[in-house]
Amino acid sequence: MKITFVGTGTMGCITRCNTSVLVDDILFDIGMGTIKQIERLKIYTKTIKYLVISHFHADHFLDIPNLLIGRGIRKEIENKLTIIGPIGVKKKIIELMNFTHSDGDEHKYDNIEEKYNIEFVELCNEEEYCTNKFKITALSLKHGECLPINGYVLEKEDKKISYACDTSLCDNYYRMCNTSNYMLSDVTGLKTTDMHMGLEDYKELYKKYPNCKFYAIHRADYSTKGINSVKFPDDGEILEI
Ligand SMILES: [Zn+2]
Ligand SMILES: [Zn+2]
Repeated sequence: MKITFVGTGTMGCITRCNTSVLVDDILFDIGMGTIKQIERLKIYTKTIKYLVISHFHADHFLDIPNLLIGRGIRKEIENKLTIIGPIGVKKKIIELMNFTHSDGDEHKYDNIEEKYNIEFVELCNEEEYCTNKFKITALSLKHGECLPINGYVLEKEDKKISYACDTSLCDNYYRMCNTSNYMLSDVTGLKTTDMHMGLEDYKELYKKYPNCKFYAIHRADYSTKGINSVKFPDDGEILEI
């Protein structure tokens, strides 16, 4: 399995792109600039068969028109795209497409599934999506007042990889740590807030869950010098597992 850290930054981060992670052909989150970054890394959109959305904040969701319209221009639409997200993801994507590209026709994207060869999968807490290659389980997270918000546990090739962006500490987050081999999650700043985890949380978690490897994503521009217990991937970094 190949994990590509497409972007590892938070909004306002100067040195890195918005957080997005590609696991083989499954892309987690697609905020502003993700598609350009994918092209810069020479991955290209035809690699993406599954798009998994955590929530509808701009840094996780807003590059969808760039993906869908780009797939049309590059004649990639014959490849089906499965979009997995919280309840309401299809409606949100139609609203976003209408906002940016309706050109006055409010019904332009009523048939978005046929137009772009998309299958939508909406998951609430503890619901699963399975193929013959992997299983994804959605778990609700805690991100201030933001609802809905899903974290995901990907089970593939006898490994469990959790993606938790954005979140503060909550019961489902601990469940993920308890069962996962790899945790890729929100470490926005040094201190924890109601919206995000902080480096102070991560430095403790690795002691409590020694079987889980912690990767800090969705990071602001703070110094990580001298901290060896947590991995701080850079944009474009690849992890083969
Ligand atoms: Zn958010
Ligand atoms: Zn975010």
